[in-house]
Amino acid sequence: MGKVSSQHYLIKAEGLTRNYQIGGRVVTALDDVSLLIGPGDYVAIIGPSGSGKTTLMKILGCLDRPSNGRYWLDGIDVSGLAPDRMADIRNRVVGFLFQSFLLLPQSTALENVEMPLAYAGVKASERRRRAREALARFGLAERETHRPARLSGGEQQRVALARAVINNPRLVLADEPTGALDEESAGEVTRLFAELNHSGVTILVATHDMAVARCAKRMLRFRDGRLEGDRRVRPSRARRNKLVCSLTAVVNGEAQA
Ligand code: ADP
Ligand code: MG
Repeated sequence: MGKVSSQHYLIKAEGLTRNYQIGGRVVTALDDVSLLIGPGDYVAIIGPSGSGKTTLMKILGCLDRPSNGRYWLDGIDVSGLAPDRMADIRNRVVGFLFQSFLLLPQSTALENVEMPLAYAGVKASERRRRAREALARFGLAERETHRPARLSGGEQQRVALARAVINNPRLVLADEPTGALDEESAGEVTRLFAELNHSGVTILVATHDMAVARCAKRMLRFRDGRLEGDRRVRPSRARRNKLVCSLTAVVNGEAQA
C-alpha cells in the first residue's frame, strides 16, 4: 500500500478484467487490459458500443472494481482499498464528465459548480468565488443564475466541466461527453479539453466521434473488452494553433454576450 515505484505514471493497470453475472451467464466486459498513462497525456478511448469503454472508465475513476487485475492511480494501489479510502482518492484526483451532464435540475449553474467544494468542506464565500471564476473561464459568466433547463446542451456540458475541474483534479474522465451535443458545441468542449490538457490536466475521453478522438494525443482502441490498438496522434501545428485561437474566441465571445 502507499506510494509504489509506479508513481511515474498517473495510471498503471495490469490485467484488468471485469465480469458481470447475468442470470447464470458471465459477461466479460473487460478482458485482461494492461495500460500505462503518464501525467499530462490526453487519451481517446474508442471502439464500438459494448466494447468495454464505460466499464474501463468506471474502474479507472474508482467508481467500480475489477474482478481481476491490479490498478494504481497516482502511485497508489487502489485494488485492495476500503470503499471510503477509494472515495477519498476519487474525490482528490478525478473529475468526471458524462454524456447526460448529470447536473442537479433544481440548482443554478453556480450551485452545481460549487457542489464538490461543499463536499470538500470549503467555506461558502470561497466556494462562490471559485465557482464564479470557473464559470467565467468557460464562457458562462452570464449564466450563473440559470437552472440547467434554461441552458443549451453545450452550455450544460460546460457547466458540468466547470464542476468536474473545480477541485483541480489531475485527471478528467469523460464518457461520451459530446454524444448529446451538436457539432459546434462538441467543438467547444474539445477545445476546452485542449486548454485543460495544455494546463497539465490528464484527460481520458471515451467517444464514438472520430473528430473528438483526433484531438487527443493518443488513441486506445477497444473491441470485445480487449485493448486492440494503442497509437500516438499527431495533430499538425496549424490545427493546434487553430484550436487555441478558436478557444480564445469562444471564451471572450461568450463572456461578453
Ligand atoms: P461501451 O461503453 O464500450 O459501450 P460497456 O463498458 O458499457 O461498453 O459494456 C461492455 C459490456 O459489458 C457490454 O456487453 C455490456 O452489455 C456489459 N455490461 C456493462 N455494464 C453491465 C452491467 N452493469 N451488468 C451487466 N452487463 C454489463
Ligand atoms: Mg459506454
